[in-house]
Order: sequence, then C-alpha cells, then structure tokens
Amino acid sequence: MGLQIDIAAIVANWKALAAKAPTARAAAVVKADGYGLGAAKVVPALYEAGARDFFVALANEGQAIRASLPDDATINVLSGHMEGADLEGLVPVINNPEQFFRDRAMRPEKPFAIQLDSGMNRLGMEAAEWAGIRDEALAAGPAFIMSHLACADEPEHPANALQLKAFREMTEGVGVPLSLAATGGILLGPDFHFDMVRPGVGLYGGMPFADAKPVVRLSLPVIQTREVQAGEIVGYGATWTADSPRRVATVAAGYADGILRMLSSSGASLYADGKACPIVGRVSMDLVTADVTHLDEIPAELELICPEQPIDAVAGYAGTIGYEILTSLRHRYKRAYL
Ligand SMILES: *Cc1c(COP(=O)(O)O)cnc(C)c1O
Repeated sequence: MGLQIDIAAIVANWKALAAKAPTARAAAVVKADGYGLGAAKVVPALYEAGARDFFVALANEGQAIRASLPDDATINVLSGHMEGADLEGLVPVINNPEQFFRDRAMRPEKPFAIQLDSGMNRLGMEAAEWAGIRDEALAAGPAFIMSHLACADEPEHPANALQLKAFREMTEGVGVPLSLAATGGILLGPDFHFDMVRPGVGLYGGMPFADAKPVVRLSLPVIQTREVQAGEIVGYGATWTADSPRRVATVAAGYADGILRMLSSSGASLYADGKACPIVGRVSMDLVTADVTHLDEIPAELELICPEQPIDAVAGYAGTIGYEILTSLRHRYKRAYL
C-alpha cells in the first residue's frame, strides 16, 4: 500500500475549516508541494471544492501549479518579489519596501499583495517601513494585506492578542481585504478571521486542528523476520539488546524516506492491524526494525502512520511537529491517492 493520501479527506478538512470562518474567504496553503503530499493532486481537488486563493512559498512552486489552475484562481507567493523570480501569473506578497519598488517597477499593472509584520519578526514590513510607503502602496491597489501569527497554536499565548492589536492598528482604514489567520488562527475565533483565512496543516490532518480527518496512512513492506536470542543486539550501534527471546521484523523504509532517526527506540511503534510493535534499535537509511514477538502472524506490511499513531503522535516521539513529519515523507514510497 505504501503512502496512502486521502484527497477527499483534505477537501473535507478544507470545508470544515472554511465553515469555522464563514465570513472569510478560505484560501489553501499548498507550499512545499502541498506539505509533501503532492500539490499536483491536492490543488485541483481544492479548486474543484471551491478554493480560489492558493499560497506557496516560492515562485517556482507557483509556476509548478499555475497550468493546473484556471485563470480565476490566484496563486500567492509568500516570499514576495525576489530578484530573478518568474512571477508571471502569480501574485507576490510583498515583504519590504525594496520588494515593493522592484515589483512596481517591473510589473506595474500586475497584481500584488502586502505582508506586514505584526510581531513575529520573520516576514513582512515593520510598522515604520509600512508607514513610509503606505500611501503609495495603497494607491497601487494591493489585492490584500496579510500578517502571520507566531503562537496561534497556543490559544492562551499573549502574543495572539498583541499581534491582533498591532495588525488592526497597521491596517486601520486601508479599505483592502485583510488576512491574519492560518489553521491555528481560524481556531482562535472570529476576531482573527478578517476577510481571508489561510489554512495549511489542518487541511493535511495535522494539529492544531484536532478535529481533522486523517489524510495520510503509511505502510511499510516487511522484508524479513528473525528470531533474536536473549543478549543479542539489533541494529547500528547495538543500542538495543533483547532481554528475552524476541521476534524482530525488518521493514523497507528508513530515514531516507522521512522516518526520522530520532524515532529509534523512542516509544514509537509500527502497527499490525492496530497492534503496536515497538521500533527497536536504530532507524537506518532504508530499514526499520520492530519487535513483533506478540503477533500470531506477521503481516506483509506494518504501518507507521495510521489511526492508532497519527502524524502528530509520530512527531511527538521524534521531538518535532506534524508539519515536519509530513514534509519529510519522500518520493521513494509507492503513492496511492484516494
Ligand atoms: C505556512 C503558512 C500558513 C499556513 O499555516 P498552517 O499553520 O500550516 O495552517 C499561512 N500563512 C503563512 C504566512 C504561512 O507561512
């Protein structure tokens, strides 16, 4: 089965998030190849469902999906107008005055948008920069003005209210559509929704959208099973020693496929029809070993990502977030789209 990606679940998650912000347009963030799941499959399905506003990180990601979308869909580029970028058919989200002047000089009639920094200090214009070009920028007619929240996945974090206040102050009276919320911001409630919301990870089944439908299932073919005697070791570095006779299965995927090496003896398991088989020893480049002693029968495949161990659970064992698990899944898997 390999990597199974449920496109209908992505569409359902998009609709569910859109319904939580009924006064806003729901865009779809499809950067990093649709969070690793395949923008070429995800984007047309979301368009079909009604999405018209797409976000990518880089111009070349935008070009990769432009031809698959009708003209009434906009593709917004979060890195803005970088020197040398091919922005034909795309909308750069301008991040600083330098980008603004470059963009207006080179594409005077073409659409653009603006990102303001409301406190995250990553992308976007600071209040003083914005004040300096605000009149000229507004006269040029930006498609929308956006900002991004640093702590939206922590509803109680004081940065949320501070950023909301800063964004409101910077955009007072602009008369242009506004956008602040990604997945986490949608869940913070209507104050954060403005005119457009930009869900990403929630579409793909990740936290903080706890009600997301699972999108990804990952099963790994068993190559070999062996009996290991008490005292024998398994894997590189001999980090695991059998304390009693065990049966160990070796599956055909490893850290080169995005099964992070941090999952070695981390408590993470491979699953056989819902039964946990703890990963033992080190994850190697192309192989993972799991303790299957308690199984009556060894299935042809064991699952790493499944309802019993969704992406955020895998992420927890690896000390990371669901986003990184998704975007680490590589192209060696046989992919099946539902
Ligand atoms: C990645 C990103 C999003 C989507 O964020 P999620 O947390 O995945 O929903 C929205 N806006 C910006 C600016 C982003 O960089």
